Amino acid sequence: MAGAVGPEFRGARRRLIETLQANGITDLAVLRAFDMVARHAFVPTGVAHRAYEDAALPIGNGQTISQPTVHARSLQELRLTGRERVLEVGTGSGYQTALLSHLAAQVFSIERVPALLDRAREILAQLDVRNVSLLLGDGTLGWRDYAPYDGIVVGAASPDVPLPYAEQLAEGGRLVIPIGTRDEQTLCVFTKRNGALERRDVGPVRFVPLLGAHGWQS
Ligand code: SAM
Repeated sequence: MAGAVGPEFRGARRRLIETLQANGITDLAVLRAFDMVARHAFVPTGVAHRAYEDAALPIGNGQTISQPTVHARSLQELRLTGRERVLEVGTGSGYQTALLSHLAAQVFSIERVPALLDRAREILAQLDVRNVSLLLGDGTLGWRDYAPYDGIVVGAASPDVPLPYAEQLAEGGRLVIPIGTRDEQTLCVFTKRNGALERRDVGPVRFVPLLGAHGWQS
C-alpha cells in the first residue's frame, strides 16, 4: 500500500479533498485514498507546487496526469470494496495506480511508453506499493493472464470499447472508459450482465488518445 506522506502539502491536499467533495465525490474510501497518496511525488519537480490543484498536469512524453476530479469520478464509478482485482490501462505517472492500490486487492496496470512506466515503477517502489503489477505494452489487448477483472479503468480515450475488455471483464464487473472522438469524449461506465455490456454515461471528459490495436491506430 502507498505510504502516507509528511506534513508538507498537507493543507493543500485537504483543500483538494474538499474540492472533490464539492464536485460530488462521496465514496469515503476514494476520498481517503486521495488523502493517503502524495500526488506531488508523481509529477515532475517543475510542477510539484501545482500538484494539489484540481488540474491535469504534464508528466513528459506528451502525456498528462489527469485532473483529480476525473480520477476520483472514475474510481468512484468502479464501486470497489477492497476485495477486487482491477486492470488499469494507461499507467502514466502511476498516481491513479497508487490510489487503486488502496481501493482494490490487486492492481494490474499497463503503459505503452517505456520512460513513463520506468518512472512510475520507481515511484511506486519508493512508496512501498506492493499489490500492483506493471506491464509495458499495448493496453488495448488487456492482460489476459490475470483476467477476469472485477473492474477495468482506462485512462485514455477510445473510439469504442476494445473487444478484449468485454472479454476480460468479470460478470457483474464494471468498465470505466472515455469513449468518443479524439477531441471530445463521454466518460462511460459499462456493467457486464449476462455476458453483455450495459452502458451508462457519466459526463463529458477530455483524454489523450488510447493508441493501439483496438484503439486509435496513430
Ligand atoms: N492515470 C494516469 C496518471 O495517474 O498519471 C494518467 C493517464 S494519461 C492521461 C494516459 C496514458 O495512457 C498515457 O501515459 C499514455 O501513454 C497511455 N496509453 C495510451 N494508449 C495506451 C495503450 N494502448 N496501452 C497502454 N497505455 C496507453
